[in-house]
Amino acid sequence: MDNQSSDFLTDYLNTPAPTGYEMDAQRIWSEYIAPYTDEQQCDAYGSTWAVLRSKHKDAPTLMLDAHADEIGFSIRHIDDNGFVRVERLGGSDAAIGRGRRIRFIGTDGEVIGITGNTAIHIRDDGDKAPKVWDLYVDLGCDSREEVEALGLRVGTPGVYCDGPLMLNDGRRLVCRALDDRLCGYIIAETARALKEQGVQPEWNIIFANTVQEEIGCVGAGMLAFNLAPDAAICLDVTHATDSPGLDKGRYGDIRLGKGGCLCYGPACHPNLNARLELLADKENIPMQRETTGRSTGTNTDAIYRARAGVPATCFSLPLRYMHSPVETADLHDVQCCIELLVAFIKSLKCSDSFHHRL
Ligand SMILES: [Zn+2]
Repeated sequence: MDNQSSDFLTDYLNTPAPTGYEMDAQRIWSEYIAPYTDEQQCDAYGSTWAVLRSKHKDAPTLMLDAHADEIGFSIRHIDDNGFVRVERLGGSDAAIGRGRRIRFIGTDGEVIGITGNTAIHIRDDGDKAPKVWDLYVDLGCDSREEVEALGLRVGTPGVYCDGPLMLNDGRRLVCRALDDRLCGYIIAETARALKEQGVQPEWNIIFANTVQEEIGCVGAGMLAFNLAPDAAICLDVTHATDSPGLDKGRYGDIRLGKGGCLCYGPACHPNLNARLELLADKENIPMQRETTGRSTGTNTDAIYRARAGVPATCFSLPLRYMHSPVETADLHDVQCCIELLVAFIKSLKCSDSFHHRL
């Protein structure tokens, strides 16, 4: 990762983008990818995409997708004593919600608060995990008026403060929102690698950074309808199962540092998977496998069902501690994902189709 990449990633990670409030992060992403692509746009709800045009007229289109949004909170209630209760944006884990720092995006700029942690000595529920409505945010205020004077209202969104941290001499990256900001980074770096290698692909390539994945793959569905791609690869995170206490018989064997993870199952088109597998093998790029018997829980589900059906698959970055402020990924896996996407795009011929044929 050179300085340019690392500056972009740091900036992108440090920018809050709770579900429904992604535009600050989208502008950073769009600005980074602009020199490597032919045009950049966003839709009504903020899903943002850049296009790299094929050298051929009437070429098919591949969509690479990641999601820009992250889980967070939204203010539900401000009480008379200046304490704030929150609603979840996406799958925030209330069990780890106490004793944290939260950045709220207020009407007059950012406001930091902390989630109170009533001392264990005097807490009624002892070790029991709190519900989201048990959490309360302390903003250093003594009244509702004081909270409102900071620019906070019912509906103000916020995310944890936790920014990027490197472990083991830069080998592993820790941050909130690596799900799925790190895949947005992978997509942007794929565009950059193609440009730097002087590749003008045979297909049109859409690099998409969609919104509102965390509440049901919303932006990706809108965008797949709008742009009608001929094939799509969704980049999201998957659970690494190599930390203590996880049963591999139940959750599979996914490790950090062993490459991206290709998903197999009805939502993942076998023709796309076959091509990715072939290329990983030919180019010697490490890749792992996982399976899901129904949907993937990623944007793949919305994209493959769009319109008359879009051949799509789910290619994931292994991640520990998903939906926590210490999400952890291995930078070698990030590199492997970029390399496989570049190889895939270079392999595309105008005459290729991933549809089934009789
Ligand atoms: Zn995700």
